[in-house]
Amino acid sequence: RAMVELQGVTKRYGEVDALKRVDLTIRKGEFVTLLGPSGSGKSTLLNLIAGMITPSSGRIVIDGRDATTLPTNQRGLGMVFQNYALMPHMTVFENIAFPLQVRHLPKDEIKRKVEQVLDLIQLGHVAGRRPRELSGGQQQRISLARCIVYNPALILMDEPLGALDKNLREQMQLEIKRLHADLGITMLYVTHDQDEALTMSDRIVLMNGGKIEQQGKPDELYFKP
Ligand code: ADP
Ligand code: ADP
Repeated sequence: RAMVELQGVTKRYGEVDALKRVDLTIRKGEFVTLLGPSGSGKSTLLNLIAGMITPSSGRIVIDGRDATTLPTNQRGLGMVFQNYALMPHMTVFENIAFPLQVRHLPKDEIKRKVEQVLDLIQLGHVAGRRPRELSGGQQQRISLARCIVYNPALILMDEPLGALDKNLREQMQLEIKRLHADLGITMLYVTHDQDEALTMSDRIVLMNGGKIEQQGKPDELYFKP
């Protein structure tokens, strides 16, 4: 079953076609990476699925529902950004609890769920701290936890590890893979780092000039030297 389907999706900015009649299917539970140079249309594709922008033409289906013009908050997905987007005045616990409070869950259930994901990312000991007191890697794990806590069917990540140094990035790659394997959430991941894409993905979608140039399992792709 498909989690996401793009059917002939075009996104035009003035004279520029950021995406040109793109067809793409992402299966449930799959880890798909969009890889390509700057300006190839990766963020545009992600933002279209997220509902931050709408297509100039074509159709977007999410979990069997036509989502072409559906608002972001009705798409049942979570997003992780490079700059973490945590709320600075809230503690770690409050940041993770926030999406559950917005959904009006009972207080004791919120506490149980937040403690559960803090365990999962092994950060229970910083629950009372504020984001600025944490390292970049810890902040990124918190922003992942804030997604996972409300069980989205799909998580979108736009260069989530771009701000981290090499060692931490490699550690976080393994951690995100482990979460994907444990939770079975469908993940769409954007990067311009070929090694990262090869390490993490079930399938890589190689983009260039607003089109899909190639796609396949990491060992099926041909990379120009
Ligand atoms: P990538 O994420 O691969 O770097 P983008 O999706 O950001 O690529 O951009 C694809 C193309 O669309 C680029 O030529 C970019 O300049 C253009 N583009 C993206 N967003 C906008 C926008 N809001 N207004 C005008 N042009 C845009
Ligand atoms: P990335 O390469 O990671 O996509 P960019 O710096 O290209 O990052 O884009 C950052 C933001 O600026 C995005 O929201 C994108 O839509 C917007 N953007 C990109 N190109 C243009 C452009 N030519 N005109 C206006 N906005 C743009």
